[in-house]
Amino acid sequence: MSLFYKDNSVISEFLSFDNQLINKTISSMKCYLSIVIFLVMVTGCSKVPLTNRKQMNLIPESELIAMSLTNYNEFLSKNPPVPSTQSDAKLVKQVGGKISASIIRYMQKNGFGERVKGYKWEFNLVNSKEINAWCMPGGKVVVYSGLLPVTQDEAGLAFVMGHEIAHAVARHGNERMSQMLLAETGGIALDLALMNKPAETRNIFMTAYGVGSTVGVLLPYSRLHESEADKLGMIFMAMSGYDPALAPSVWERMMKINTGAKPPEILSTHPSDQTRIADLRKYVPTAQKYFVR
Ligand SMILES: [Zn+2]
Repeated sequence: MSLFYKDNSVISEFLSFDNQLINKTISSMKCYLSIVIFLVMVTGCSKVPLTNRKQMNLIPESELIAMSLTNYNEFLSKNPPVPSTQSDAKLVKQVGGKISASIIRYMQKNGFGERVKGYKWEFNLVNSKEINAWCMPGGKVVVYSGLLPVTQDEAGLAFVMGHEIAHAVARHGNERMSQMLLAETGGIALDLALMNKPAETRNIFMTAYGVGSTVGVLLPYSRLHESEADKLGMIFMAMSGYDPALAPSVWERMMKINTGAKPPEILSTHPSDQTRIADLRKYVPTAQKYFVR
């Protein structure tokens, strides 16, 4: 009897310890979930124009635009733009002007006007051997002169500029930063939840959580962002009067020169080159529906 009593006592002690831990974990998880729900409610989920993919942007776009303006100005002070009297710089401005005009027109017509509302578009060419181009939130676009021999013509340039502009308009940077923020918030909540557990259990859990965040959330999104920028880039070039059927050939030329240690942004991530070029070809008929001749 006493043995039973003792055993029961030990068992109930274990049970109560477990229950305490479970309750603490649940309440911390509830807290974490409330933070997530609160953040989503405050900022709201939105849809990427044209692809209709649901996305979550937790950082006010105005803040990102302000941040990018500082970085952009700093970049230009160190890398003076090629004067627009030169033909290549003129071409960059001309292609950029056409793409931004089509984007503004489309967004305003289709209820996405606020996407590009705070944008003050600028298109600059800088002298550099680098094969690169980028667009910061707010519409600050820079093309490196090293890119031009690869893009070869106006349509090729339109595809690459369309791709870079797509990253900004689709708010990929905001989305990526939001995911990181969320991963960190989750990390803090889990850390609190596991405070009373033995150190080794806690470490295993945190490692598992970290790996989960990297593989499960962040990496596939980067692939998704590249594919989405390709699709939007093709649509943007089509809307601006350039045949999107020319996009895959730009890509083929890119692949041939992609031997350097630092690949251009457009080649920076997965999916693999062959998959990506096949995807571009597959998307030509869809993008051509937007083609304005
Ligand atoms: Zn890209």
